[in-house]
Amino acid sequence: MPAHGWETAAACATADPDAWFPRRGGDGGAGAKRICNERCPVRRQCLDAALADEDGRGAKDRHGIRGGLGPRQRARLAKRQSAAQPQPTG
Ligand code: SF4
Repeated sequence: MPAHGWETAAACATADPDAWFPRRGGDGGAGAKRICNERCPVRRQCLDAALADEDGRGAKDRHGIRGGLGPRQRARLAKRQSAAQPQPTG
């Protein structure tokens, strides 16, 4: 059962899951990213969930393609978003 309601609309729901966990020497997840970015109606929700699930992790502790981005891309995005957050005062 999906953890989130939006997962039932995921473009990867009926695809080969191995494509979302590319091995070294493969396409680097390019095929999966294309499906995420061009065909998935819940890409934004998926990416937001990934960033929330992986909060505080470095790229090595993030796995697979989620929300159209690979582990390093998500780590960079999380770092940029964190840097853009207003800092608490007082
Ligand atoms: S964005 Fe990609 S990984 Fe996320 S639900 Fe859609 S197809 Fe699956």
